[in-house]
Amino acid sequence: MPYVEGNSAIREMFEAGARMAEEIGAENVYDFSLGNPSVPAPKAVDQAIREILDQEDPLYIHGYNQSNSGYEDVRTVVADHLNKLHGTSFTSRNIIMTVGAASGLNVAIKTLADPGEEILAFAPYFVEYGNYCANHGVTLSAVPANTATFQPDLEKMEAMITEKTRAVIINSPNNPTGVIYSADTLRRMAEILRRKSAAYGKAIFILSDEPYRELAYDGAEVPYVTRFYDDTVVCYSWSKSLSLPGERIGYLVFPTEMEDFENAAAAANICNRVLGYVNAPTLMQRVVAKCIDEKTNIDVYDKNRQALYDGLTEIGYSCVMPQGAFYLWVKTPMEDDAAFCAKAKDYHILAVPGRSFACPGYTRLAYCVSYDTIIRSLPAFRRLYNDIQAGK
Ligand code: PLP
Repeated sequence: MPYVEGNSAIREMFEAGARMAEEIGAENVYDFSLGNPSVPAPKAVDQAIREILDQEDPLYIHGYNQSNSGYEDVRTVVADHLNKLHGTSFTSRNIIMTVGAASGLNVAIKTLADPGEEILAFAPYFVEYGNYCANHGVTLSAVPANTATFQPDLEKMEAMITEKTRAVIINSPNNPTGVIYSADTLRRMAEILRRKSAAYGKAIFILSDEPYRELAYDGAEVPYVTRFYDDTVVCYSWSKSLSLPGERIGYLVFPTEMEDFENAAAAANICNRVLGYVNAPTLMQRVVAKCIDEKTNIDVYDKNRQALYDGLTEIGYSCVMPQGAFYLWVKTPMEDDAAFCAKAKDYHILAVPGRSFACPGYTRLAYCVSYDTIIRSLPAFRRLYNDIQAGK
């Protein structure tokens, strides 16, 4: 049975959290373990669902799609939206509706990579990438972190590329660091990948995983990757941007300029089917088309970000100030991040060790919790820190 062992740490944390909540009350557990949005979906989303259900033929709205890539008019709405925002020139042909980013990544990997090939990801990275690659007989290799900035280490990336490398996964704003990859980083990454693609006589793709694109603070710009590199596939999701993770809706962008576009788009359409997703949920496709200009209330996350960053740095923790997403990346005050997270449980704090993101020595705190939880957790973080400093 694959995957079971690797997932046990997260399951254990779930169980520990539930047990703790039963014993001491949920309000006394500071659960920073999960990236589940704490801002409800905009009201317009629920309204759109009701209107669509009232207006549309049930056989259509609950039915299979004609194309496994989704509804033509919905894909046009998405393409036009991207063109308006990023100055691109996509049409419906470039868009494939997916069952969230998780399925989008699986479709993209199966479409682009052959079994036995390799994909690179920059540590720290979303733990599921390894599972998604394994699903398709592809190896995921971690490019070690640049712990000074947590921008991708491009020299290390270049040194790791071989004839087996088929793609590089990037994720900006990043889970778990909150870092946004700069235009300069993307420009230099593109130059290296163009050079390496030419050297090995095959396209090396960028797979840009973007569920946090809309969660950027202080007006930070999140550069659009297809503008830097033609062989890019963008993987987007409304899970976080509209707080709809349970509804499973997202899309892939296959740009016309990428290598072998017609075949790649046709293959992705088939992969959506044969991987068992069949098509993105019909109702949700219509909802996101109707709500394409809607936004989540990012001010809520921003307030949490400031409070947790300020609170923890004041205590003495060393944190990366997140530019986006809803995670705080903290250097563990003990070398062993797993031991730190185990100890934190004694203070009723649940956090994910950095090694789960291929980056030991750190911990991830998901601050998509209530503001009150953050404020109430700070004395526990202080006791934890002081006790570690005192060798207790
Ligand atoms: N990629 C990253 C970096 C994520 O953090 C997540 C979910 O937390 C996903 C992909 C999967 O998102 P979705 O719910 O759209 O499948």
